[in-house]
Amino acid sequence: MAGIALVVLGTTVFVTAVGRLAAPGPGSLAWTGLAALVAAAVAAVAWHVSVVQPQRAQIQSLTDRLRRWGDGADAGSTDEVDPELVALDSAVTEAVFEVKSRVTRLQERVDVLAEAMQASSFGIALISADGVITDVNDEFRGMFRLRGEPVGRRPLEAVPSVDIHLVIEQALTRGAAERVFVTGSSDLVARAEALHAGVLLQVEDITGRREAERARTDFVANVSHELRTPLSAILGYLETMLHDEERIPDDLLKHLKTVDRNTRRLRDLFEDLLRLHRIEARRRELPMEHQPLRPILVEAVGPAADRAAMRGQTFTLECPDEIHAVVNPDALTAIVGNLAGNASAYTPEGGSVSVRAEQADSGVVQIDVVDDGIGIARQHHERIFERFYRIDTARSRREGGTGLGLAIVKHYALACGFHLELQSEEGQGTTFSVVLASPAAPR
Ligand code: ADP
Repeated sequence: MAGIALVVLGTTVFVTAVGRLAAPGPGSLAWTGLAALVAAAVAAVAWHVSVVQPQRAQIQSLTDRLRRWGDGADAGSTDEVDPELVALDSAVTEAVFEVKSRVTRLQERVDVLAEAMQASSFGIALISADGVITDVNDEFRGMFRLRGEPVGRRPLEAVPSVDIHLVIEQALTRGAAERVFVTGSSDLVARAEALHAGVLLQVEDITGRREAERARTDFVANVSHELRTPLSAILGYLETMLHDEERIPDDLLKHLKTVDRNTRRLRDLFEDLLRLHRIEARRRELPMEHQPLRPILVEAVGPAADRAAMRGQTFTLECPDEIHAVVNPDALTAIVGNLAGNASAYTPEGGSVSVRAEQADSGVVQIDVVDDGIGIARQHHERIFERFYRIDTARSRREGGTGLGLAIVKHYALACGFHLELQSEEGQGTTFSVVLASPAAPR
């Protein structure tokens, strides 16, 4: 304010003095104009010196202070700031403070995420939207024995695994993908998930789990195999004894029949365990053939049809002669036989069971095993194919079930590349569907 007053005063004095000198006479108008111009220039210089320069210096010092603060130094005091700039100073100071604390919080989150990524037992890699690795953890480097820095390179260049490249490609087109594969002596499973921008890749080493699983199934198979021989001997003696039923006292006969029934159950159980082991061991090695379907289904449903007849159930098989499919006949017989046997077992007397095969225009063949029995409540659908999972154990035993039928169905279907579907509600019957691969596209 003092500066402005000074300028106004100086200009007034100057104009008055020049005006006096020039008046009166010819050319006085030009003199007056010149005087006014000089006065304006002086005023501008004075304004610059007294007002603009100090403010510019203030702004410069404010900028320096903020820059120092941005670089992590103390903000310093605001004492030297012109009162007219204090509002601007505190607004900028507040904004900088807010930005700094957000950056600190973000940095903390980034540090925690980086730590979690390192601590994970999975190999993790992040791939940007333009297909370049942006981050990997040490586990990932170790799993693929990466030499050189993978960050900044494409997975195909940096990671010596085609499967990794494929799983990322699949995730980019489908949203998510999974691949199980072997590198060196390790069994790995890679899961890739498309993110908002880029892909998250997680690789798990399942070698230990696979070995434990193999050891467990080998053990069960060995035990079953060892027990089968003495069991067969016991069954042989029982059969011989029961051959002459008339010579056995009634109470002893009753006990012997119980022993016989339970021994057969044990034998069935060991047979199923061994069969399950064999399917698992031969996974992906089942020979597939292009075959007419009807003869396979006729053989498969035979025992179930007999059982249905004994229970007064209606049993139907519908399969047009011309349907052909790519199948492993033994596997398909076991699948349909198990499903049809269950359909009869879990349907009350007088109910109905049907097995229907259809071929769609696309060539895909579907076999439906339908019953109007007790049904399966929704909460069991997810677990029903697990070994020994039963809804009603007593009923399953009564029906002579080993609790392994659907597990065998599932493993055969996996080995053949068939797809299984279940539709059922408690009390409203059940439909199990087996979808076979199209004959035009054999595996
Ligand atoms: P199980 O030898 O007990 O029949 P499965 O593995 O074949 O063993 O079947 C598992 C369980 O699934 C059965 O115990 C039964 O509770 C249920 N289940 C299977 N099929 C049917 C069906 N068609 N209707 C109702 N329940 C069924």
